Amino acid sequence: MAGSFQIAKVFGIPVLLHWSLGFVALLILYLGFGKSMNFNELLWVTLAMMALFLSILLHEFGHALTARRYGVQTKDIVLLPIGGLARLSKLPEKPIHEFIVAIAGPLVNFAIAILLLPYLYFVMAPGIEGREAPTPNDIAGDYFYFIPFVFAMNIGLGVFNLLPAFPMDGGRILRALLASWLGKLTATRIAMIVGQLIAVGMVILGFMGYNYLYILIGLFIFFSALREFRWVKLDHDLSRHRVWEVVRRNFSVLHVSDPLQTAFDLLSRGPEHHFLVFDNQEQLSGTISGEVITQIAESSGLSGEVGDYYRPGIAALTLDNSLKEVDEVMRTSQSEILPVVENEVLVGVVDREAVENFLKFKDRSASKTIRPA
Ligand SMILES: [Zn+2]
Repeated sequence: MAGSFQIAKVFGIPVLLHWSLGFVALLILYLGFGKSMNFNELLWVTLAMMALFLSILLHEFGHALTARRYGVQTKDIVLLPIGGLARLSKLPEKPIHEFIVAIAGPLVNFAIAILLLPYLYFVMAPGIEGREAPTPNDIAGDYFYFIPFVFAMNIGLGVFNLLPAFPMDGGRILRALLASWLGKLTATRIAMIVGQLIAVGMVILGFMGYNYLYILIGLFIFFSALREFRWVKLDHDLSRHRVWEVVRRNFSVLHVSDPLQTAFDLLSRGPEHHFLVFDNQEQLSGTISGEVITQIAESSGLSGEVGDYYRPGIAALTLDNSLKEVDEVMRTSQSEILPVVENEVLVGVVDREAVENFLKFKDRSASKTIRPA
């Protein structure tokens, strides 16, 4: 994530800190000096913050290590001022797996709290007799209250994350439960709406109580829910349509020995943005994208040949492949155009623009038929 730097690698997963945490540290020091805290109190507050972020980190490892059991890798874990984020390479497909991965985070916090229970029973309970009920200001600096503070914090983290505010853990749990009988798309739509209602509630509460953290988290949830719903919708649309719906049967091709000028002319002439490239034995050999051609034209002119700049390697599609498979192949091969082959004969091409335009047009025509005139 931009603006983050790695502090450790645990179980093969990089742990990143976001720079804005530095701000939070400075803010604590500033507030601490403002309240004329002594060194001991500042140390206590610093240790409490470290305990908070350690708890969040363990929570995220709860997600990451459970996800790994279902074959889902974690790119990294980022610690932000408003919490942590285990960035999974993809989401678990089966609702039951998503359920378990989502609930594992809060369960880690409850497990930490349970581990601290003996202290509360055997040290704190006997020691609290004769003490006056503490105010939050008394707690800072008093190590008698440190473990109870960490205990309460972990209960709070667990409960807060279980709020059904998609895409928070509770919202994912809700989505997973709904998905097993409503399907993923409808389940995500309902989870998004519930999440956004809670988010709006948080923002209103934040404004009423001048609590900026509530406003920030509310806005974050609102837009993350929308973004994640769009991903699911896109995935759903892609998997419902097939290559034969977007295949282009008229297309120009290039050869490795063609001058780049030819590629540039084809590109400027019209609707085609990316091209298949054949070798001198008339075998399909690779692809070249419009972006590459334009870049070369701008940086070093068009003196070379297509063969100097094209991307070798071909992954072919059939007419029956789904658009989701097209998207995956384009990602892994980093190719903007793919050949479509039937019975070992090249019958057409699919490029990224074709897929995007198809989905855009389909959306527009769908909304036209639904919307009353
Ligand atoms: Zn979580």
